[in-house]
Amino acid sequence: MSKRDYYEVLGVSRDASEAEMKKAYRKLAKQYHPDINQEPGADEKFKEVTEAYEVLSDSQKKAQYDQFGHTDPNQGFGGGGADFGGFGDIFDMFFGGGGRRNPNAPRQGADLQYSMELTFEEAAFGKETDIFIPKEEECSTCDGSGAKPGTSPETCSHCGGAGQLNVEQNTPFGRVVNRRVCHHCEGTGKLIKDKCKTCRGKGKVEVKKKIHVKLPAGIDEGQQIRITGKGEAGVNGGPPGDLFVVVYVRSHDFYERSGDDVLCQMPITFSQAGLGDEIEVPTLHGKVKLKVPAGTQSGTNFRLKGKGIQNVRGYGQGDQHVKIQVITPKHLTDRQKDLLREFSEISGQVPDEQHENFFSKVKKAFKGE
Ligand SMILES: [Zn+2]
Ligand SMILES: [Zn+2]
Repeated sequence: MSKRDYYEVLGVSRDASEAEMKKAYRKLAKQYHPDINQEPGADEKFKEVTEAYEVLSDSQKKAQYDQFGHTDPNQGFGGGGADFGGFGDIFDMFFGGGGRRNPNAPRQGADLQYSMELTFEEAAFGKETDIFIPKEEECSTCDGSGAKPGTSPETCSHCGGAGQLNVEQNTPFGRVVNRRVCHHCEGTGKLIKDKCKTCRGKGKVEVKKKIHVKLPAGIDEGQQIRITGKGEAGVNGGPPGDLFVVVYVRSHDFYERSGDDVLCQMPITFSQAGLGDEIEVPTLHGKVKLKVPAGTQSGTNFRLKGKGIQNVRGYGQGDQHVKIQVITPKHLTDRQKDLLREFSEISGQVPDEQHENFFSKVKKAFKGE
């Protein structure tokens, strides 16, 4: 993306006076300030306008820009890069500032997420297991200070331990002192001369932590459980974060799940469908006998009450739904063919109400009635 011309951004001519540019900037900054203008794109506009003014109000930068234009579209003149203070600084500039967060204040550790794959049955009946999670823990060699044992971190000489640096900046309101995070100590106010060898000065080490996880019966795809306090360690004595275990359920060859209910398809033969039979259906709770009445159609559903999955919150138990699928034989012996032919011949002579209804509907459809 190419950058717009800074003069164009401010809407001023190339020979505009300092006062004209200041006036133009004030007007645009007010129009697009994110605290005033909530419209999408306003903050981008605001950044663009501020960057243009930062360059054009500085005689040295302005001269460079007039001669070379944008040197690097990603960097500009302190735009977008680390040098440009962003909203925080602008906010300070407008409203007097203050209110930077103390970098040494206790902070809660980050939450962790762990994905776990379960079989269909494990999800249905629950699972207890141990998992091993890579976690950051306070380094025991240096007790989290990051300094070699026997030494201690020193106060940062660049910021005097404040973690912040004051930077003077040109603004339409004159010279303003801005506070920025001290990059020498990364805002901690401390510098470590002799780093702890175990953690290399980080004060934290990565360990594999064993955590006992108990997933309740009835847990389903995408659901998660929270294990309080098992996330990452807190910072500066803050509380640890939480661990979230997210469940993925492997699909099953025979069963499908719909909430607390289990769905399955049972194939039966053409003669079982016609004559009726008692069949055995597998369920999560063992085999169950199911009476298929004579004349059962393919697609008919039967319900096996209470043979589904226990509700994860303990609200009862689901059912198993059995969908009958009548299998048309593919390979017939000569004897079977003879019998079917005979069956077909006499079928025409025996009136079957259901058949008649169905075929008359098909006939009507052909005629377009
Ligand atoms: Zn250490
Ligand atoms: Zn510092």
